[in-house]
Amino acid sequence: TLQDRLATVFKGLRSKGRLTEADIDATMREIRIALLEADVNLAVVKEFVAAVKARALDAELSKALNPSQQVIKFVNDELISILGGEARPIRFAKRPPTVIMLAGLQGAGKTTLAGKLGIWLRENRHTPLLVAADLQRPNAVNQLQIVGERAGVHVFAPEPGNGVGDPVDVARRAIVHAEAKLYDVVIVDTAGRLGVDQELMQQAADIKAAVNPSETLFVVDSMIGQDAVNTAKAFDEGVGVDGVVLTKLDGDARGGAALSIARVLGKPIMFASNGEGLTDFDMFHPDRMASRILGMGDMLTLIEQAEKTFDAEESRAAAEKLMGKNKFGLQDFLSQMQQLRKMGPMSKILGMLPGAGQFKDAINEIDEKEIDRIEAIIHSMTPAERDDVSILNGSRRARIAKGAGVQVSEVNKLVNRFVEARKMMESLAGGGMPGMPGMPGM
Ligand code: GDP
Ligand code: MG
Repeated sequence: TLQDRLATVFKGLRSKGRLTEADIDATMREIRIALLEADVNLAVVKEFVAAVKARALDAELSKALNPSQQVIKFVNDELISILGGEARPIRFAKRPPTVIMLAGLQGAGKTTLAGKLGIWLRENRHTPLLVAADLQRPNAVNQLQIVGERAGVHVFAPEPGNGVGDPVDVARRAIVHAEAKLYDVVIVDTAGRLGVDQELMQQAADIKAAVNPSETLFVVDSMIGQDAVNTAKAFDEGVGVDGVVLTKLDGDARGGAALSIARVLGKPIMFASNGEGLTDFDMFHPDRMASRILGMGDMLTLIEQAEKTFDAEESRAAAEKLMGKNKFGLQDFLSQMQQLRKMGPMSKILGMLPGAGQFKDAINEIDEKEIDRIEAIIHSMTPAERDDVSILNGSRRARIAKGAGVQVSEVNKLVNRFVEARKMMESLAGGGMPGMPGMPGM
């Protein structure tokens, strides 16, 4: 996974003040593989990597982040920007009804989406009407009617028994109906085939010309990966697309298709569909997709928070101590811990680290009260004791325990753990592990 790859790169990166070109290259190599594995189009990957590299070489370095975090942040920012930055809302027509046409291959999720959009619009105080303009498959009209019933949204359909109707005519009549009955949004469900097909494309173009939609949405199954790019291009050329809807994001697709389509079409992804249930649906959020593509869990949130709360000077002093100029003492430990706590509850912070899923149970067991007790114990020590735990004899420990209102055994436990942790941190620091800002060795 990308996480494993990056972990390897990070081990190789030293925690230095500057990001060298070699550091950037090493990280970008891994990002490149990750993007390809996420099924991002090769041309898009190349362009993307070059853009991030240029940005990284050029950038003013943040004091709060170590070099690898810095690169991840650049990558993430660039991903978000390609994915459209912000979610793009529907453009409603000045004069209702607003017509939204759904186009895409068979099985992409158009009919399901019609129901989802219907519910979503109703929740946003609209009065939508679904239109069955897929007359290709015998069962398609019926399927939309069932979806409409489940969604509690009206469906306009051709009368049964008249043979194969004309979808363009149905769509046209639906608009007239909507105007008369004061539906303010009309969602037109159209037919698709298994592959790009000239006749179907023409039919979609004809429907579009007849109903003049405010939004023509290209609906695409995010599991189909690379192919999605070509299909999207064909629909944009043949029909004209205003925005994209990604479906089946509940599957294990890594989102590479999203990135490729957004880049190649230059059209916004507007909605994301993530389940068979009619409420499994939301506006598309570029930042969430970016972190899905990167597979960094909420590492990115952590980076963001580190930037916000981190006191660069304090941590640099701690880092210098760690590197051996001064020995890392309990006072430093205390201030590191307080820095961390500013970012939120400890269990939450640890939960954001990549790979944290494996340790879920242990993390949930972290007891904030225990952290309070640790703080109390350190507060009960004299500065000399905090600086050098080796002077902590029995009577000092007893005094500290009393001051903190804990058992001597808890003082002992803290001291032992601290000595162990410091040993480990020192060996890691010697090996060039950058560590998280404000939490050396974590
Ligand atoms: P259409 O041919 O484009 O109209 O596609 P349908 O709406 O009929 O959907 C095809 C299949 O995909 C159906 O079995 C849907 O239940 C399923 N489907 C649609 N959207 C999603 C989604 O977001 N997640 C999952 N897991 N299945 C979906
Ligand atoms: Mg359908």
